[in-house]
Amino acid sequence: MKISQRWHWKAFWLSLILIVPLHCVDADPVSVQEIDSEAIQITFLNVGQGDAVLIRTPEGPTVLIDAGPDELPNGLSNFDVEQVDLLVASHPHADHIGGMVSVMNTYPVRFYMDSGDTHTTVTYRELIQTLQQRTSITYLIAEPRTIQLGGAEIQVLPLLPAGSTDLNNRSVGLVVRYGSFVAFLSGDSEIEELTYWVQQQVVPDVTVLKAPHHGSSNGFTREFLERAQPEVVVISVGANRYGHPHAEAVQAYEAVSQTLLTTREHGPVTILGYADGRYEIRTGGA
Ligand SMILES: [Zn+2]
Repeated sequence: MKISQRWHWKAFWLSLILIVPLHCVDADPVSVQEIDSEAIQITFLNVGQGDAVLIRTPEGPTVLIDAGPDELPNGLSNFDVEQVDLLVASHPHADHIGGMVSVMNTYPVRFYMDSGDTHTTVTYRELIQTLQQRTSITYLIAEPRTIQLGGAEIQVLPLLPAGSTDLNNRSVGLVVRYGSFVAFLSGDSEIEELTYWVQQQVVPDVTVLKAPHHGSSNGFTREFLERAQPEVVVISVGANRYGHPHAEAVQAYEAVSQTLLTTREHGPVTILGYADGRYEIRTGGA
């Protein structure tokens, strides 16, 4: 198993290197979002109560982390996406994987990564059935590794042992780096997983933080925020019965960051990150 995963990883790395020149030749990418070819683009899509985060790297590789509760409202049609190089399911709850089958039916997907956790829902079963039918998609388990995406990279964080905790606390943790620009994304992780990462010393100083667990009061700790020191916090949230985002979380994020945005209030939120650490925020649109 290990050997084949390593082989897949090598294949992934090599194939991304191979596609980079192709995207460089296509020197005039067109997008409604006006992609800056010098910037990594991270868009928190407006999917209501759920998560879907689209990453476009300057050289072209595209990553989609979660796909919202339902079919994505406008697909990825505003983003000039031709294929999804890496599709990540942070964890198997429906508000994160509900739109994945539709994504796989619409775009070629090259690599799929998840925590390895299973679920009993129809939504999860349909996702797995679709994955099994798509033999062209290479499966990756989330384990500590770094995935190179041209000039950007994604570090996959260690997970708590399988079976030792609940699905939220085994959300796939990703640190996205493009030079000095750093983003931290971790699905619905709660105090247990965030504390584990602090103890493992894998929480860097970040530019952008996706508020874990939709701004829940169990989606942050003081120690985690002291390490992460985000400049921008984005809460992916819609109408919900849980009271997300919770007031204490909003207060904690406002205390530590310069900018706090929610998809419910601002619609899709796009951060353009530059290698020198600068960033621009764009909100609104589809
Ligand atoms: Zn969720």
